[in-house]
Parts: sequence; C-alpha cells; structure tokens
Amino acid sequence: MPDRILVIEDEPGIVDFLERGLAAQGFEVASATDGTTGAEKALSEPVDLVVLDLMLPGRSGLDVLTALHQAKPMLPVIVLTARDQVEDRITGLDAGAVDYLTKPFSLGELAARIRAQLRAAAHTPTTWLRGGDVDVNLITREVRRDGEIVRLSTTEFELLVYLMRNRGRVLSREQILRVVWGYDYDPGTNVVDVYVGYLRRKLGRAGFEVPIVTVRSVGYRFDARD
Ligand code: CA
Repeated sequence: MPDRILVIEDEPGIVDFLERGLAAQGFEVASATDGTTGAEKALSEPVDLVVLDLMLPGRSGLDVLTALHQAKPMLPVIVLTARDQVEDRITGLDAGAVDYLTKPFSLGELAARIRAQLRAAAHTPTTWLRGGDVDVNLITREVRRDGEIVRLSTTEFELLVYLMRNRGRVLSREQILRVVWGYDYDPGTNVVDVYVGYLRRKLGRAGFEVPIVTVRSVGYRFDARD
C-alpha cells in the first residue's frame, strides 16, 4: 500500500509540482490549498505524512501544526519555510515529528526527507491505539471498550490491532488473511468474517455499534470517526 502524503500549500504551481513529482516517486498524494481544509483533511482522512506550507490562507501553517500535534502527535510533518521565516517560533513547539525544508527545494530532497520521516515513524513504538470507544494497549495487550476490560483471544487481538492500525482504510479479506493468519492463499473459508463477528459481539453493547464496517464484496474497515 503506498504511503499517503497530504500536501497543504496554496501556490497552485507548487501543489501541481508536488502532486506529480511525489506520485512519480510512488506516493499517493492528496492536497489542500488552505489551512482550514488542510487541517480537516489531516485529521479526518488516513494520512501518513503531511507536507505543510507555513504561509497559508485560512488557518496559518503554525496553527495547523499545533492542531496536528495535539490530535495526532505521531503524524510526521515536513514544514516548508521561506528562508528567514518564523523558524524560531516553530522550534518552540514540541516538534518531535517535524522536519523543515527551506524553499526553494528539489523534489529529490523532499522525497528523501519524506522517506526518512516515514522510516522514523515506523520505528517509533506506539503504545496505544484508540478509536470508537475502543482502547488497545499494545504493550500489555489490554483492550478496553468505554473503559471496561474486554478479553480477546490472540487472533481476535491481532485482527483488531490490524484493523485499528489502518483506520479509515478498507482491508481486503486476502490482506487480513495474510497479515493476521499468515496465509498467502485464500483457504476458501469465511474465517475472517467469523472473527469479525466475534469482535463485534465482544466489543459491542446495547446502543453502541463497533466501528468495524463491512465493505461489500471487498472486506472490512475500522471507521475513522471517533
Ligand atoms: Ca504559501
């Protein structure tokens, strides 16, 4: 699955250059041309990395950066700055996942920074997964729904983690079988559907639907809504 990059930048020429260039480098690229839309997309859509211009209409780049830090502290952001721009103010933020690139920059340079950030993000141990009232502690393997402990089998746990790690993305039965069960062929059973059923039963309760959505004839998606 290609990494998804969100470009938040208001200059059409640069957006176009980045969309085409990064796609050619094998990334999936989405874009927003103002800060308000950009922050919305970054928070509601599955995004692996954000390329953020600082001078934006709508919400300023710094404002967007702060919002992203609060809501998605692990999301890597590469900030595009003009030389002599507010860099000291940004450095004041707790900017663990942030890298900076000064305009003008080459596409090769940006792509290299993106790869470095994605590699670093992949190696940062995540302790918690959270979504739809479900909390998973990856260290203790404890699962809670609305604060209450839910006991899952090893396979149920692995399936839940795989779905939650890919929140908002549709995972096919074949992908799930490969990652959770280690099958690289379709055994021709409905084992995935059976286990999704177990998860829904164990995590569900009256008036609360587990956010595992069935995508007809494809597979399943853990809903990105909270
Ligand atoms: Ca700009």
